[in-house]
Amino acid sequence: MHEGSITTQIVESISREATRRKAKKVTEVKLTIGELTFLNPEQVKFWYEVLTKDTIMAGSKLIVEEGKGKVRCLKCSYEGSFKYIEDTVLYTPMPTLQCPKCNSSVEIIGGKDCVIRSIKMII
Ligand SMILES: [Zn+2]
Repeated sequence: MHEGSITTQIVESISREATRRKAKKVTEVKLTIGELTFLNPEQVKFWYEVLTKDTIMAGSKLIVEEGKGKVRCLKCSYEGSFKYIEDTVLYTPMPTLQCPKCNSSVEIIGGKDCVIRSIKMII
């Protein structure tokens, strides 16, 4: 389970931070999930609830924001969001590795990470 192992890592880092600050309780966590991680936010929330049960994080609110992918063109140095194509099978826009301006190949410079933005705790 992709979401399960990622959420375990997230919960561990929050727990370390809370211990370091001698927190009594964690009340709210803000998370940014890059769109290229292909993590399902609902699954992450589910695992978060399971993994924080009986810890000082139990019952805390998890806010998940989607981080947009970002690319850089190697040819015209365009920087910004992906060029999307409509997937004919799934009918959802799929990101491509093509420059929206000149159609050359681009490199991915953002959207691959899962970042903890903030942790609210009672100390
Ligand atoms: Zn380009």
